[in-house]
Amino acid sequence: MSSKRNIEDLRRAVAAAVGADIVAWDDATLRARSRDTWPLSLIRDDRGTLTTRPACVVSPATVADVQAVLRFANREGIAVAPFGGGSGVCGGFLPEDGAIVLDMGRMNRLLEVDETSLCARVQAGMMGDHFEAALEERGYSMGHFPQSIALSTVGGWVSTRAAGQFSTRYGSMEDMLLGLEVVLADGERLVIKPSPRRSAGPDLRHLFLGAEGTLGVVTELTARIFPRPESRRLCSFAFADFESGLEAIRNIVRVGWRPPVLRLYDAHESARHFGHWAEGDACFLLIVSEGPAALAAAETEACREICLSLQGTETGEAPVEHWMHERNNVPSLVDLVARGFVVDTIEVTADWAHVGQLYHDVIAAVGEVESLLLVSGHSSHSYAQGTNIYFTFVATPSERAAGEAKYLECWQRAMDATVRAGGSISHHHGIGRLRKPWMREEHGAGIEVMRAIKKALDPHGILNPGALLPDDA
Ligand SMILES: Cc1cc2nc3c(=O)[nH]c(=O)nc-3n(C[C@H](O)[C@H](O)[C@H](O)COP(=O)(O)OP(=O)(O)OC[C@H]3O[C@@H](n4cnc5c(N)ncnc54)[C@H](O)[C@@H]3O)c2cc1C
Repeated sequence: MSSKRNIEDLRRAVAAAVGADIVAWDDATLRARSRDTWPLSLIRDDRGTLTTRPACVVSPATVADVQAVLRFANREGIAVAPFGGGSGVCGGFLPEDGAIVLDMGRMNRLLEVDETSLCARVQAGMMGDHFEAALEERGYSMGHFPQSIALSTVGGWVSTRAAGQFSTRYGSMEDMLLGLEVVLADGERLVIKPSPRRSAGPDLRHLFLGAEGTLGVVTELTARIFPRPESRRLCSFAFADFESGLEAIRNIVRVGWRPPVLRLYDAHESARHFGHWAEGDACFLLIVSEGPAALAAAETEACREICLSLQGTETGEAPVEHWMHERNNVPSLVDLVARGFVVDTIEVTADWAHVGQLYHDVIAAVGEVESLLLVSGHSSHSYAQGTNIYFTFVATPSERAAGEAKYLECWQRAMDATVRAGGSISHHHGIGRLRKPWMREEHGAGIEVMRAIKKALDPHGILNPGALLPDDA
């Protein structure tokens, strides 16, 4: 749609509509805002084949700026792609040629902390680590610790339905989000007021949770906060196999214990991260309990009893301390891709009845890819009904052209095996462009409902076209 008009005219028109001081179109800015952290975009960027460029980047400072951009784009039929921190890993942000990028980074203020009702109001572009640090200064925490906390924004968390490392107690974004301010495609400002709970019709928060910028631009949110925990306890156990460890988690959560961290690594990952503390094929389960001292003590003891009763061997605090220290240090995907590796992580979810089989099926299916170096998995977010598995795959350096095909083959095999095993295709990274082909299998007729909602809210299709919804009619 944007290609219909001269790009220079478009830039001048945007600047006139929203103010020249918040619009940029120099090459460096356009390149920096042409992709997120989806490994396929990284591969293409590295090879020089990622050539699409937005027309300009607008950095709004106020809700009125966002409204002005959307009113203009809606009238002119120009695509708008919201950008948070760009840490998305599924291609949710990949603006088409001539699109307007809305970079939310200047809307980055903590607006209010309500210490009585335990909630905080924050602008969508605030970086996660800045938000958490500001809360911690006051004695609070959001309890949301994605590994990408320093790379992502609170608005991005809402838009991808993110989950943090402490989610088993504190929940994920759908549990944490109380209220929302969104600007719709026509520039209308929608405020969903925060409430501890209400029975007042469908819950509109869920329209924007995980919408990946396709239904509106999140400008502000109100999130739950917690007093910083009085006490924290760490323990770990080694199990003979992955199934026994899953059984321990299932038994812990089914009776109501909710240690924020319950992470079980398969033998491959255990050897990689915790080989220092055990030998052979041990599978490590890390447990962190926190809250009032009496609760953390009782929870730790109960988890210990369950793990020992299932033949776990206690391995102490050190493996958990090691994880706490290293948990956000991951090798840079950009560096690995530049070295030619085909690498990614795939997080899926299933109920307890299916998750064991799912784990084995995905490992077997991806394991058949030629010249695969490793495929491994861990469980990191658990519920009374089931858990997630977070797979990692790495294939050897290869001809660049073959790398792209190999990457897609790993994904195809993992997604197909997940669907066959009765799982859900994503636990917390979202859909972007990457998982669109499996959305119909995931949602069935729900896809038509989603299309109808999209048409109603964004009749001209300006909001992040290409993301989330499958391409077929
Ligand atoms: C090293 C690494 C570790 C990660 N660990 C985790 C993890 O532990 N848990 C987890 O859940 N995810 C994780 N992720 C994925 C990523 O950090 C999350 O998806 C995050 O929520 C994205 O936030 P962002 O601000 O970077 O959004 P972006 O990548 O900028 O955008 C994500 C999507 O949301 C849209 N969007 C962004 N802001 C807005 C807005 N204000 N309004 C409307 N739409 C918007 C974009 O258009 C895009 O479709 C990780 C990523 C990396 C690279």
